[in-house]
Amino acid sequence: MENSRKRPLEEEKTEGMKKRHISNRVTQPNRRRYPLINQGATCYLSSVLQVLFMTPDIHERLDPTSSILDRELKAIFKNLPKTSCGTENVTEVLGISDVHQQRDAAECLEMILKRLGPDASQVFQGQLKETTTCLVGHVIIEETSPFFILPLPLQDGRSAKCSVKTGFRQFFQRTAHTGDNMVYCSKCKRKTEATSGCEMVDSPPVMTLLLKRFDFDLGTRSDVKSNRCVDVPFTIQTETKSYTLYGMVNHVGSLRGGHYTATVLSGEDGAWYDCDDAHVAEVEEQPFANDRKYSSSSVYLLMYRASASRTDRSSGDRDKAKTPGGPAETRSSPRLVLLLVFGCVTLVILVILFSVFLL
Ligand SMILES: [Zn+2]
Repeated sequence: MENSRKRPLEEEKTEGMKKRHISNRVTQPNRRRYPLINQGATCYLSSVLQVLFMTPDIHERLDPTSSILDRELKAIFKNLPKTSCGTENVTEVLGISDVHQQRDAAECLEMILKRLGPDASQVFQGQLKETTTCLVGHVIIEETSPFFILPLPLQDGRSAKCSVKTGFRQFFQRTAHTGDNMVYCSKCKRKTEATSGCEMVDSPPVMTLLLKRFDFDLGTRSDVKSNRCVDVPFTIQTETKSYTLYGMVNHVGSLRGGHYTATVLSGEDGAWYDCDDAHVAEVEEQPFANDRKYSSSSVYLLMYRASASRTDRSSGDRDKAKTPGGPAETRSSPRLVLLLVFGCVTLVILVILFSVFLL
């Protein structure tokens, strides 16, 4: 069932990309790409920035008058196609003083998105509605909140299969409150069995998934890092959108120490590139090439772009219009002015015609 749905999607969305990849490789081989310089242990930041660099929707929306971070990212993204760049100004804006201390790439991405101007950060922002309902169907709790990252569980350690798609489904599965965990329902006027769960009421243009590799193990009562191999799909279908993978942040190593890299899909030549401290190089065995499946024991963050925002500008605008206060509102106002002017001119012409007839 899942395969029959996946196949046409991949054919439709990726065939063009693959063809372009092949034709562009003939015309422009060996296009050089540049790394971001590691200040000590800032590979978590470089990896996140390399993915943001491959997010054109962000570039269009960076507004140097809106925030200092917008200005700094704009400067890096302007220079990165020509040379390797430092990130000192970014760490300063983010308030990172110890550049030799390892940090979490997901926390770093959230820190960046929270400090970006609203136009840019909206690209990664969606809304989740969490509800708890009793067995009769009374809504006990309902809360809608914005999100940048969806943390996906890695399935039961005893299971051999581990996949992003299963984790994604599990994230939206409802959990039951029974026995000691029953919840008080004010309409039933008693403690009752209930279910809790969340749904995505606003899908972001770019959806970031986090694989919970760093977690707390209840068995050993200690923090653990999981290096399990995870099947990564090229496309993910939500109720309203089709998403295509274009960026991954990988972590190799343990809880105490390790190294981050990014793997990004270039929109220019349709090839995947590995971004490391000293170099950016085309991935030798291209993920997903020739319908090959991709799995990884190091992928940690996955960035999926909604197909609409990539291929269809007008539906991209519709997405923005969903978010209150977004730029779509300001874009619609010139249309309103035009309509008003047109109305006034028509009225004046009618009045003049009336006067001429009466005279
Ligand atoms: Zn109830």
